Amino acid sequence: MDHGAPSIFESLESDVRSYCRGWPTVFDRAQGSRMYDEDGHEYLDFFAGAGSLNYGHNNPVLKRALLDYIERDGVTHGLDMSTTAKRAFLESFQNIILRPRELPYKVMFPGPTGTNAVEAALKLARKVKGRESIVSFTNAFHGMSLGSLAVSGNAFKRASAGIPLAHTVLMPYDGYLGDRVSDHLFLEGLLTVAGSGLDRPAAVIVETVQGEGGINVARAEWLRALQELCHRQDMLLIVDDIQMGCGRTGAFFSFEEAGIVPDIVTVSKSISGYGLPMALTLFKPELDVWEPGEHNGTFRGNNPAFVTAAAALETYWTDGPAMEKQTRVRNEQMARSLGAMADERPGDVVTYRGRGLVWGLEFRDEGRASAVARRAFDIGLLIETSGTRDRVVKLLPALTITCDELEEGLRILGRAVRDTA
Ligand code: PLP
Repeated sequence: MDHGAPSIFESLESDVRSYCRGWPTVFDRAQGSRMYDEDGHEYLDFFAGAGSLNYGHNNPVLKRALLDYIERDGVTHGLDMSTTAKRAFLESFQNIILRPRELPYKVMFPGPTGTNAVEAALKLARKVKGRESIVSFTNAFHGMSLGSLAVSGNAFKRASAGIPLAHTVLMPYDGYLGDRVSDHLFLEGLLTVAGSGLDRPAAVIVETVQGEGGINVARAEWLRALQELCHRQDMLLIVDDIQMGCGRTGAFFSFEEAGIVPDIVTVSKSISGYGLPMALTLFKPELDVWEPGEHNGTFRGNNPAFVTAAAALETYWTDGPAMEKQTRVRNEQMARSLGAMADERPGDVVTYRGRGLVWGLEFRDEGRASAVARRAFDIGLLIETSGTRDRVVKLLPALTITCDELEEGLRILGRAVRDTA
């Protein structure tokens, strides 16, 4: 890379670009849990495409299925036409994911990205209930289009909308007020007291673990109480599983552990398994009140993504318990190592928290997380920061990472923490 003249990225690409600023190199190849830049430097990837690469980069099984499909001129673009690739995906999803979990959901293809799935979920909830507002939580993140931004917390991102973000009711996420307030007391109070001024919302949208918001982990009992409140108060429960689904927290859906069954679920990121754009909005059959074509979009039939998605389900989820067990083992390895880091630096590291293979290491001082991430990059590890005050380092390795690779990455992280103290 020429470090003198501005690169084409700097001269032509918009200033809105962001990840490339923290990782100032030009990536060229990627395989499994490693990325390589054009100068031949190797990086261990604890970022996994922001959760889109749960099975690693260019996973060989998925790549084979994709190459075979392309080679035989399988349909690439299909709007919502019925194709053999879509049928194979739907059958796998039904047989491997929905039926064994006794989940009754219908499947909607809302558009290629996570925010498309969220927009469809919000529209559907409003249509079903005939009400406008949606309950969302502090530090939530649901995407960058206007409806999703309205239920997201980040002030900087919200300001980019340039218009009022309305029709939402903001509530404290689990732990936001410490343990001073019992679960959902305020929301229940607003809903049950005539004269509170709150019009009944159509739905509540929640992440079981807030990924962008700082790796905040909701307790299972908090989620169960939320579901009960939704039932009592005739509101739909939407779980946004875009980042925490597809096995990130252990089970295929992150809400399984809490024993809840949301009315609507959004899924994207790792559903294609290969980093190809794909999203799903799942909902209980009685909520399927859409008119044909009422929610539309050109890129709802990414058939190569259906091919890799079906291959991912068949390869990794036919034996779901084995996949979950592997994630549990990695989870324990991660927890042990982060625990040791926290013990070693009590005045520096405030806490560490996570579920499955999503973890956050929180520092006392603002700006510390970025410094650690930058140093980690210099010594060969890709990690992101999370939350608004730049105090949380986010660890999101592929679920297929080996124990040795995980150990290696954690060692680099430890060194980056020490080097920047
Ligand atoms: N919802 C959650 C929980 C997310 O983490 C994200 C992205 O990080 C989105 C929605 C938006 O997905 P996309 O960036 O594909 O629009």
